Amino acid sequence: MTFVFEAEPQPAIPVAGSEQYFPVRRIYCVGQNYGEHVREMGGDPKKSSPVFFSKPANAIVTGNRDVNYPSGTSNLHYEAELVVALGGGGSNITAEAARQCIFGYAIGIDFTRRDLQAAAKAGGKPWDAAKGFDQSAPISAISRVASVHPESGRIWLSVNDEVRQDANLSDMIWSVPEIIAELSRLFELKAGDLIFTGTPSGVSAVVAGDRIKAGIDEVGEIEFSLLPAIS
Ligand code: MN
Repeated sequence: MTFVFEAEPQPAIPVAGSEQYFPVRRIYCVGQNYGEHVREMGGDPKKSSPVFFSKPANAIVTGNRDVNYPSGTSNLHYEAELVVALGGGGSNITAEAARQCIFGYAIGIDFTRRDLQAAAKAGGKPWDAAKGFDQSAPISAISRVASVHPESGRIWLSVNDEVRQDANLSDMIWSVPEIIAELSRLFELKAGDLIFTGTPSGVSAVVAGDRIKAGIDEVGEIEFSLLPAIS
């Protein structure tokens, strides 16, 4: 097979403690998965069911590379999230079988053009421009599943060394196995898929020049700066 022009390289994420890379197929994201964050966004956590959206695979930013402030927004928000990396998949996976599909975990940032998201919500319009833009998914190296899956543990994010998000994975409304089960009823999941599992409360705006750090106990850390917009 020959292409009419050179294909872009396969988006891939380093695997911690290894020379190998995890090839990214799709990026799924869960909205509104921590009660305090649902409340800060004006929702009712008891009424919510998982909200799924996606980002393009080439939205990832790896290796602690700095991120340019995106065009088209004046209200860019960070969202620190546990990311599940799948090494297997299928359809209609049960929550009991879901852990067998997991290759590893990472910490990722679900960058959001909050002004565009608010306008989309108000107008009943899609979220793509609010969520799926270039460099909207910085992510750490992937920690391969050893013996334990991180079901509790601190998840935090700081801006210029001031802690803005500080929560525990056990606060998630939908557990990782439940998310995989629910998602697999809508899409056939495959090795290479990433799932951003939602953010705790404490989201807010960042600007060019800010230094962002985030981490999850036993999973990893990420650290980078926001650069001025590309003009
Ligand atoms: Mn999110």
